[in-house]
Amino acid sequence: MTAPLDVDALVAEASAALASAGTTDEVRQVTTAALGKRSPLVAAHRSLGGLDPDERRALGRRLDDARRTLEAIADDRRRALEAAELEAALLAERLDLGEELPDRARSPLSRGALHLVTTTRDALEDTFVGMGFEVVEGPEVETDWYNFGALNIPPAHPARGMWDTFYLAVGEPETVLLRAHTSPVQVRLMEAAVAAGMSPIHAVMPGRCYRRDTPDARHLPVFHQVEGLVVDEGITFADLAGTIETFTTAYFGPEIHSRLRPAFFPFTEPSAEFEITCTLCRGTGCRTCSGTGWIELGGCGMVDPAVFDAVGIDGERWTGFAFGFGIDRCAQMRHQIADMRSLVENDVRFLRQF
Ligand SMILES: [Zn+2]
Repeated sequence: MTAPLDVDALVAEASAALASAGTTDEVRQVTTAALGKRSPLVAAHRSLGGLDPDERRALGRRLDDARRTLEAIADDRRRALEAAELEAALLAERLDLGEELPDRARSPLSRGALHLVTTTRDALEDTFVGMGFEVVEGPEVETDWYNFGALNIPPAHPARGMWDTFYLAVGEPETVLLRAHTSPVQVRLMEAAVAAGMSPIHAVMPGRCYRRDTPDARHLPVFHQVEGLVVDEGITFADLAGTIETFTTAYFGPEIHSRLRPAFFPFTEPSAEFEITCTLCRGTGCRTCSGTGWIELGGCGMVDPAVFDAVGIDGERWTGFAFGFGIDRCAQMRHQIADMRSLVENDVRFLRQF
């Protein structure tokens, strides 16, 4: 007869070994040693036949309990280690990736920035939104009707000379063009308002425009405009002047004011050019403003009844005003940029200043 097996000691020893196993391989080794073919547990099982029935039953139950207990502990430990090993493997992969690209991982990336024209447009939009205007956009490729016809500039009208236009070779000659100003968006907006049963319009329309200008210090063939349109009942020229002044002080600062001078545009009557206090000399007079203290920013006026007729608005009931100016020109004046071509040359030494 073999020496009686201390089952409790065997379970305690194997449990401790499993708890300290650091890998799933170690768990397998401990399990094989405690429960495998050559284990004391299996040997004790084999010797059960030599015992009397009561002892056999009692020891058999203890050996089965011990096996189940150890198997459960081994399973828990294996699962815990598998999870940890998976996590470690994933972590190692991630670290490997970093080590393969040490230079890129360590060098600080230089951050890009918005272009001055974009930040200027954003600031102008913010100013007008703060004044209660909504921002509306329209297509850059337009028909003659939207760019000219609906704006009281019929074909062969001498005023067309004010816009040296890029025409596209599409359809009949000179019917499709790159818009020469943002005013076509006004026409589209008024048509949409009429189609919806007509309600007041308070909108600004920023966007890119095209003219056959030779680039110089003050002109670019591709430039940006922002245009405003208000149509409501009882709108007067005083509302226009007040809006221009409110915008000027809100955008350029409290020392900069506006004034209007008579002008001519086909789509407004009366029309005016608006000037603001020279941003360089603050009104005392310098070379840029030719000693006057004022510089021209844009044009404006009361919407011409012929434009209302073209879009189907009742000019007896509704009145309105429009204004427009160059966004690039605005940036040029606000930041004292000598040559507008700097805005499109993409020289980062220039662009990084803003
Ligand atoms: Zn000046």
